[in-house]
Amino acid sequence: MQMSHPKAGGRVPFLVGNWKMHKSLAEANADLIRIGAATRTFDGHAHPESYRSGSGLRVAIAPVALHLADLARATPRHLDIFAQNVHWESKGAFTGEHSAAMLADVHVRGSLVAHSERRQLFAETNETAGKKIKALLDGGLEVIYCVGETAEQRAAGQLKAVLQSQIHEAIRAAGNIDWQTCLPAPGTCRFNIAYEPVWAIGTGLAATEHEAQEAHALIRAELAQATQASIAEGIRILYGGSVKPENIANFIKAPDVDGALVGGASLSPESFEALCQASVRALAVRNF
Ligand code: PEP
Repeated sequence: MQMSHPKAGGRVPFLVGNWKMHKSLAEANADLIRIGAATRTFDGHAHPESYRSGSGLRVAIAPVALHLADLARATPRHLDIFAQNVHWESKGAFTGEHSAAMLADVHVRGSLVAHSERRQLFAETNETAGKKIKALLDGGLEVIYCVGETAEQRAAGQLKAVLQSQIHEAIRAAGNIDWQTCLPAPGTCRFNIAYEPVWAIGTGLAATEHEAQEAHALIRAELAQATQASIAEGIRILYGGSVKPENIANFIKAPDVDGALVGGASLSPESFEALCQASVRALAVRNF
């Protein structure tokens, strides 16, 4: 059994598979069971509390909304189910939407917020993201808030400005958030960021580990300004964008990269298992 170690601030490395709009329910169930079996030993005790106590690699899957209740019921306790989206209101006339309370009701652990596809295709803004963040945290759920620049913005030297507006505008729109859970205490912080450069998503053109580390350090500095340094230390920042079993080790070893949000390479259980294995191997040989 290999054991990985938390990073600074007690941040337990976290791998999340974003299945987007893929798989039948039967396929999703079969793949979840297989991934569950393959990741059972990663937390050392096959118990979800162990990652909160500071050991292990945490793993989660974000399937389509239609499958959430079934998969949350079927998933082993060490493997979390996340939604890909949520509405900020608790109930009402919002056709096609679901609330944080409804996710909690079917034992979903949290939700992605403002994935770049939702920003580009469904008019998600920093402000709506902030309202979703607030609804999830107030409802006792977790957030994976997605940020990242387009190729044009990077070429124009706007990386920092884009990340600043995505972070500060969303946190401002969220209003009063209780950040105390993010003070260093392994695994308790319910707010995660995913840095996903838009040009790297689904293109096969991953950022370099240097580019990822640079952006993550920038994000952590902005989080420290928006909250306080000790809180920013407890917030996990995942990298996303063409992560594969072959390149995950480079990312996850970087000091401010606390895991990955994975699209394409999470769809086959073989490659997702390989991603998990490569992460555990990379983390086990490093002294944090
Ligand atoms: C994503 O959509 O969040 C993502 C990172 O996709 P991919 O891994 O396919 O680039």
